[in-house]
Amino acid sequence: MADDEKLKHADTGSLMGELDESAQPLAGGAVDLPRIERAVREILAAVGEDPDRDGLLETPARVGRMYAELFSGLREDPRQHLKKFFIEKYDEVVLVKDISFNSVCEHHLLPFMGVAHIGYLPNGRVIGLSKLARVVEVVSRRPQVQERMTDTIADLLVSELDAKGVAVVVEATHTCMTIRGIRRPGSLCVTSAMRGIFRSHLSSRSEIMTLIYGGKRG
Ligand SMILES: [Zn+2]
Repeated sequence: MADDEKLKHADTGSLMGELDESAQPLAGGAVDLPRIERAVREILAAVGEDPDRDGLLETPARVGRMYAELFSGLREDPRQHLKKFFIEKYDEVVLVKDISFNSVCEHHLLPFMGVAHIGYLPNGRVIGLSKLARVVEVVSRRPQVQERMTDTIADLLVSELDAKGVAVVVEATHTCMTIRGIRRPGSLCVTSAMRGIFRSHLSSRSEIMTLIYGGKRG
């Protein structure tokens, strides 16, 4: 895409000209593993299990480590991945499709997983493609709702890249819908967030949606 020498590093405040406002305040300190372990033991006892039987002895500690991993995004600022961009006179849409992710629905603490498609129309700032995947990862590794996750990613690209337009589409399967409640296996939840030109111009929006879904569905 661009030469390394064109890589510009945006020092805090110099290019953005303002202090960063976090999309979500970062959690402080480390994950309190003993607290999770106590809570998991409580849940096991509450559902009528014996937390001290052999098969469950290691479960609280295992669940604690798992939550630390699944919620690691609470302690990471996704903007760190958008600080190194290329200055490039490229004024066509950049689109990255099928960025897979796993997240946890904050209503049920059950996983939802799927793919994110991110398109943007640069305004001089172009980001490495892998960085978009890192942003999706950080944002998804938090207790989430799909709508907010979609909005957060779009807003981050607007604020950090000053893009002329941003389109984020997220398609996900929610296990809280497929394994419990109404039990709709295979149901897909689609959310989108349009910013800038993709919000204000219907033709631009149609174009990006065709790019995202081109060849995939009619
Ligand atoms: Zn849910």
